[in-house]
Amino acid sequence: MPTLARDKRGLVVALDGPASSGKSSVGAAAAAELGYRFCDTGLLYRAVTWLALHRVVSVDDPAGLVRLVAEIVLLDDGNGRLSRVAIDGVDRTNDVRRPDVDVAVSAVSGVAELRQALLARQRALADGGRIVMAGRDIGTVVLPDADLKLFLDASVEERARRRAVERRVDPGSPEGIEILQELGRRDRLDSTRLVAPLRAAEDAVVIKTDGNEFETTVELVVRAIREAEGEPSTKPAPAATAPATAVAAGTPARASRTKRPPAEPTRIATRLGFLIRLGSAVLRVIARAIVRLRIEGDLSALPRSGPLIVAGNHASSADPVLIGAFLNGILGRPLNWLGKRELVEYPLTGWAFRRAGIHPVDRDAADLEAFRTAMRILEAGQVLAVFPEGTRSRDGGLQKVREGVGMLALRSGASVLPVAVIDSDLMWPRGRLLPRWGRRVTVRYGKPFRVEDEQPKVRAGEKRDRRASTEAATRLIMTRIAELLPRRQRGVYAAEAEARSVR
Ligand code: C5P
Repeated sequence: MPTLARDKRGLVVALDGPASSGKSSVGAAAAAELGYRFCDTGLLYRAVTWLALHRVVSVDDPAGLVRLVAEIVLLDDGNGRLSRVAIDGVDRTNDVRRPDVDVAVSAVSGVAELRQALLARQRALADGGRIVMAGRDIGTVVLPDADLKLFLDASVEERARRRAVERRVDPGSPEGIEILQELGRRDRLDSTRLVAPLRAAEDAVVIKTDGNEFETTVELVVRAIREAEGEPSTKPAPAATAPATAVAAGTPARASRTKRPPAEPTRIATRLGFLIRLGSAVLRVIARAIVRLRIEGDLSALPRSGPLIVAGNHASSADPVLIGAFLNGILGRPLNWLGKRELVEYPLTGWAFRRAGIHPVDRDAADLEAFRTAMRILEAGQVLAVFPEGTRSRDGGLQKVREGVGMLALRSGASVLPVAVIDSDLMWPRGRLLPRWGRRVTVRYGKPFRVEDEQPKVRAGEKRDRRASTEAATRLIMTRIAELLPRRQRGVYAAEAEARSVR
């Protein structure tokens, strides 16, 4: 049986593959059968290319290309299928599929700034779930946490033959051969470019479509999605036209399941409204009455705009208040926190917490949900406050963390503001019902930095090892927090912090 979560939301399915592998037509048909939404992201790149050709904007002008994005609208067929594109209000779907766009599109889509500009749009579409999104980098870059990743593949000859038939051309004619060469060229460009190259994600299910009828491939895709939903396909397996290799190795990546319906998504806090100001003022008065608080760091250098991850050590229940109630006033904007979902479900305070930028996360469900929420906050250009350790430390020292915070920093490109809360564990340790009065606690802010700026640059032709860079990013963030802490509290990051301070 599908879980409640699945019933309500449906899966996020990434459908990647090379040109003319059938992603768009197969994806749209499978989505229609399943009642899913569909988005063909290739249309976005094609539309930018078409506009760039018309306005004579070159690939050497990334800012010019990015400016074109605002003029492009994907059109909904009324059933949530985004298979057409309008530019300046005119349906240009047929125009953007013309050969001149085929020739230019790979170069345009290799422009990193353009890809970045289209990223938030694509991710926002997937937000509601129940969607099949087709493209080149959906499983690897756009939706790396998709519930299911499919990769449609076929030999270049097979794909050229299909395209020739589509254009009513004899595949053996000079025009047919030109189609074959053009596809080969586009494959090469798409799969060797430095940013978001075409490749199957490691956890993708590869569906080989050579020799398949269209309907067979659609059915293979529908079956893969139904299986991932946990629901058996209602149709028998496709007939023998599907080669034995049709569904190859790899298990679909699945979100872990929750027994409860998913928590209602909360609104991202973007301004210091009355409620947040009032709540923070009250908390500041209480904190100052209990604690001898010192706030240190170059507060004038903290970013007043743009996505920001505030990452701190966690040793006491007082930490979120000692950071949050003060920092939002300093930054002039609210902090968004991820909190256990019970917080927003308490009858009296739940309402206020929701409005105060606390976003519910299911502890027994996937970290995935938390990750998505965190990305949503950063993509909206807002502040996300996190304790990478997850729970309060027992001895006041930093504990080993998982890679979430590094991954967030890398994926979002947000600045990271390290913060150390010093001696809060002595003031209000774990297991103590009430805080001790009159203790000194220091909140020390470090210098904001971007992880990418601190990592060694990848040279042309080299591949970045994603796991290694995520680990390095996480270690860097934790080391920056450790450097702000006294020796006693550096915990497992002591050696790294000391190594940096003697350099
Ligand atoms: O899928 P389609 O062939 O319409 O895509 C056109 C081009 O857009 C591709 O050759 C590729 O260069 C680019 N593209 C991309 N990333 C996507 C989708 C398309 O780079 N997610």
